[in-house]
Amino acid sequence: MLPYISGIFEKLQRMKGLEKCQIVANKGVTLKKLMLSNQKKNKGVQDVMNSSNVAYSIPCSDCDSRYCGQTRQLLKNRIASHKSELKHLNQNNSFVQHFLETGHKPNVDKVSILFNEKHYKSRLNLETMSIFALGSSALNHIKPVNEN
Ligand SMILES: [Zn+2]
Repeated sequence: MLPYISGIFEKLQRMKGLEKCQIVANKGVTLKKLMLSNQKKNKGVQDVMNSSNVAYSIPCSDCDSRYCGQTRQLLKNRIASHKSELKHLNQNNSFVQHFLETGHKPNVDKVSILFNEKHYKSRLNLETMSIFALGSSALNHIKPVNEN
């Protein structure tokens, strides 16, 4: 189930992978609210780290920014590869760039699960929508949506 976001809704209808998702045209349910309520449902750090097929977010320790990602693997493995990306200072990586530019540190102990979704394309769309919902506080570089 996906919430309605004005403007993005029409675009999403043309995106692939949403066939299995039901888009709810209900302006009362914003993605941000849904993300926050999902975050509250998170159990302990161990449970979060041992989850798979999730859209997740990693907050910055030093400012209000967050990174959104998605993975099919165990979240702890994905976080481990983020740590290694950071170590190797890959500048083309939007996760690394903020921390490289500002000297801030990701707060990997505060990783939260935004959505559980086992279909890859739906998970990808949830990740993209989460980035949109975060607006300027998202660290991600949003890739342009193919209009075809
Ligand atoms: Zn920061």
